[in-house]
Amino acid sequence: MPEQIVIIGAGQAGVQAVQSLRAEGYTGAITMIGDEAYPPYQRPPLSKAYLLGSFARERLFLKPDAFYREAGCELILNTAVTAIDRAAKKVALNDGRTLAYDKLLLATGTRVRKLSCPGAGLPGIHHLRDIADVDGLQDVFKAGTRIAIVGGGYIGLEVAAVGAKRGLDVTVFETADRLMARAVSKPVSEFFADEHAKAGVKLNLSTSVEAFEGKEKIEGIRAGGKVCPADLVLVGIGVVPNDMLARESGLPFQDGIIVDQNAMTADPSVFAAGDCTRHVGREGVEIRLECVQNAIDQAKHAALAMLGRPKTYSEVPWFWSDQYDLKLQIAGLARPTDQLVLRGDPASRKFAVFHLRDGAVAAVEAVNAAPEYLIGRKMIADGAKVAPETLADISIPMKQIAQG
Ligand code: ADP
Repeated sequence: MPEQIVIIGAGQAGVQAVQSLRAEGYTGAITMIGDEAYPPYQRPPLSKAYLLGSFARERLFLKPDAFYREAGCELILNTAVTAIDRAAKKVALNDGRTLAYDKLLLATGTRVRKLSCPGAGLPGIHHLRDIADVDGLQDVFKAGTRIAIVGGGYIGLEVAAVGAKRGLDVTVFETADRLMARAVSKPVSEFFADEHAKAGVKLNLSTSVEAFEGKEKIEGIRAGGKVCPADLVLVGIGVVPNDMLARESGLPFQDGIIVDQNAMTADPSVFAAGDCTRHVGREGVEIRLECVQNAIDQAKHAALAMLGRPKTYSEVPWFWSDQYDLKLQIAGLARPTDQLVLRGDPASRKFAVFHLRDGAVAAVEAVNAAPEYLIGRKMIADGAKVAPETLADISIPMKQIAQG
């Protein structure tokens, strides 16, 4: 049994590890270190309800302060770990302290990817990852403001939807030829493009940003050979994993800290969970997932493995996005070679796209369609086979389809 567990990163994975360690009977010390000012909080609402102003700050926090006291978890905030000494089993903090560990969990998450084109340092260019980012955006996120959004992925489009709702003049620039190309199939991309256009959002696909223009602050964005005036810019072009500490301590990494099915790194005393990791997924392919599900499940598996009770991680990944009154829910990982089956009419604003692989459900994208998502997710876990024409028939309820 370890006696001292140190968790680097006070986010979703970190807090789950604390909870799971205690639930599994661990009685030793736990210290969690985070470089932000806040205890662990939910990030997904930041670009949605929190930016809209309909979600109080207090509701973001994953646990009340009492949780950490009762769990006997020492929470060290506003503090960064600067190095891991794996030989001595110690971590160094930027306040000069050193902490010893028997088991270490890296739950360091990601940071935003930044553009390096001319003008990228101008004031008025924002990113969105932390509470502080949204709080900093709120002051300038006002009706009538012209916002240029770089990136038509989850963050960019969620901000576009909130911006349109709050009366901003919104223009999106996306390099790819369709929206959310990394995450969704073409029919779903096209559906969301229509919805954004209907809300007055101007979409520029296949358009890369060349430069930001302005003297003292942002005044415009040069893309596709034209300058679009802008008072404000939001860059949402993805994230990069915080794997530097692992790298510098000699642990294997490749766009993420490499972990096995038990969330263990190459060092049996060091574990990693969440967005900062890369693992071989349930389909046998190496992946780095950016989602709440992976943070929670991998942290649970890390806790079990730290206590000597490893259990193979093979949960079905799931994701979601809220844009306007549309809830997009995705389960499983699609491949370009999957057979697509449309269930329901996108015009009804309630439909799903199923991905079949060798006759079995491999992934589902559901829009305002909770049964398709929930039952689809279970079918993916079970490897359930289904005929495409059955899936496409909305007169047959999902429950009945799942029963075969
Ligand atoms: P995020 O979580 O930041 O939304 P995603 O990967 O979901 O990340 O989306 C990022 C989007 O940004 C992708 O659709 C990608 O094609 C787009 N993108 C990446 N680089 C650029 C760029 N330089 N200009 C415009 N769009 C970009």
